[in-house]
Amino acid sequence: MNQAASRNVNPAPLTQWVVAKFGGTSVADFEAMNRSADVVLSNSNVRLVVLSASAGVTNLLVELAEGKESSRRIFLQDEIRRIQYAIIDKLTQPDVIREEIDRMLDNVAMLSEAASLATSHALTDELVSHGELMSTLLFVEILRQRAVAAEWFDVRKVMRTTDRFGRAEPDTSTLFDLSAQQLLPRIQNAIVVTQGFIGAEAKGRTTTLGRGGSDYTAALLGEALSLARVDIWTDVPGIYTTDPRVVPAAKRIDRIAFEEAAEMATFGAKVLHPATLLPAVRRGIPVFVGSSKDPAAGGTMVCNTTENPPLFRALALRRKQTLLTLHSLTMLHSQGFLAEVFGILARHNISVDLITTSEVSIALTLDTTGSTSSGDSLLTTSLLTELSSVCRVEVEENLALIALIGNKLSQARGVGKEVFGVLDPFNIRMICYGASSYNLCFLVPGDDANQVVQTLHKNIFE
Ligand code: ADP
Ligand code: ASP
Ligand code: MG
Repeated sequence: MNQAASRNVNPAPLTQWVVAKFGGTSVADFEAMNRSADVVLSNSNVRLVVLSASAGVTNLLVELAEGKESSRRIFLQDEIRRIQYAIIDKLTQPDVIREEIDRMLDNVAMLSEAASLATSHALTDELVSHGELMSTLLFVEILRQRAVAAEWFDVRKVMRTTDRFGRAEPDTSTLFDLSAQQLLPRIQNAIVVTQGFIGAEAKGRTTTLGRGGSDYTAALLGEALSLARVDIWTDVPGIYTTDPRVVPAAKRIDRIAFEEAAEMATFGAKVLHPATLLPAVRRGIPVFVGSSKDPAAGGTMVCNTTENPPLFRALALRRKQTLLTLHSLTMLHSQGFLAEVFGILARHNISVDLITTSEVSIALTLDTTGSTSSGDSLLTTSLLTELSSVCRVEVEENLALIALIGNKLSQARGVGKEVFGVLDPFNIRMICYGASSYNLCFLVPGDDANQVVQTLHKNIFE
């Protein structure tokens, strides 16, 4: 067993050090960056800081990567410059950093022009990585202004990934070794500030871990360095019973088990990237979620166990789901139809999310978690043609997936009535219940999603 693999057996954290991750709104502008710097400096155990791009910048870069005509490109680039200059202009010594940011902005302009000639996934990742590269440069400067020893670190030196651009998978054993060599010595001497979301494949080309991937980066680095805790600082003071933007009466969950929080993230609770808890679970590292705007408000601790976990824990909502229904009379009493369909989907790099079957049909949703693609964009003409050669295909778009997360759901009585009893005004599409004891999920028309969540929340949690 190599050293990296042997470290995977859940040893106690080596240090009391903490990795703190700040999302886009926490580094949106000068004031937000300073509030986040206060959070970092209020805990001397925070030695590693992982940042997202300033709010809005990744979306602007994604649009540039789509290949825009010149006037739109100039508009988008100006927007990015405006966001970053607003921070620089408030620094006491802006000149050095302005030069570095200008170099990044020149790169963005050059890559955007290349994208307007021919787009590619590799080019997209290279372009969008500039959001995190710039926010981390600026944050180091904010810390240095406060006479704090801070060091900028390019995470691509340690975050080696596959070359699946847009949704790359990290190579954890290389990450362990490189972090031990390159990051561990640095965090002994300074607060190290690095980028979430980005990595590099074997040839050195920049990759990304999927939208919202900075949470995942923080947890991966926490695992690699055996840190004591991963702090996720965002714009809400914790994980709530559902998205507080959809249900203002949602309540904060003070402690939640890894499995429950992982289900919430998987089923759309945007507060955590779906993969965030995998590294944390592997090493048993607690994850704290709090608000950088109001750190005194406390937050949620995600950890190994919780006392008396409730039957119903939370509601999650994932929008823009696509439902494929495949009908084939030859499926009746025959063998191999499912294998054939899955073979076709696998050849098109599509993983299935939810599935239900009847004697003559299969209904399934496509897994778009963490990716920049929506379900409908995964449905290429060649995929539909291939599927149509073996069955009749129906596609329904703009559905929403609602997941009720809980404990031992499939063993409890009356769950179906409690949930669906209050949803009679709504058209429920596919229902998945029983495969996992942690969730019950179903699809509804996208336009009804908020109302369904509000109705269920009122009935179950208020
Ligand atoms: P960041 O940029 O800090 O990563 P995100 O926007 O990705 O922040 O995640 C925070 C948002 O997640 C909140 O503003 C909230 O609207 C949303 N959210 C969705 N579900 C939940 C939930 N169950 N609890 C808290 N926030 C949630
Ligand atoms: N900046 C990236 C995004 O907007 C990653 C992140 O915020 O976690 O998706
Ligand atoms: Mg996020």
